[in-house]
Amino acid sequence: MSDLTELYQELILDHNRLPRNRRRLEEASRQAEGHNPLCGDRVTVFLKIENNVVTEATFEGSGCAISTASASLMTEAVRGRSLDQAKNLFKRFHSLVTGDAVEEGNEDLGKLEVFSNVCQYPARVKCATLAWHTVHAALESHQEAVSTE
Ligand code: ZN
Repeated sequence: MSDLTELYQELILDHNRLPRNRRRLEEASRQAEGHNPLCGDRVTVFLKIENNVVTEATFEGSGCAISTASASLMTEAVRGRSLDQAKNLFKRFHSLVTGDAVEEGNEDLGKLEVFSNVCQYPARVKCATLAWHTVHAALESHQEAVSTE
């Protein structure tokens, strides 16, 4: 377990203990579900989008400390961002935890930097990115528009 000690930093522990924005969003304009079968993590992300800006972001789900803390921090990070900024943040976060060179961009990762050690633990990368893949799916969906394509 000592290998993981570094992962469980104060911020991650705190967000696992007291997840922010962990509730169903009744007025959500978009939502998506994610599942990480390797660990058993499940998350549903709810977004309220107005004028191309994420005005609310919440999640529900259950999983390990990393996945819960990541979902909690993700909802804080995307709120107030435009759709493009939020998608860019997903790319940057994904690069950070997979150990790829972080793409240049204007989006400051801020607190999300605590996940930079996760790339050393390949089994945990999917826990950290689950909420982000899920929010990305919600950002890319256009379920409010009826498509005939
Ligand atoms: Zn997990």
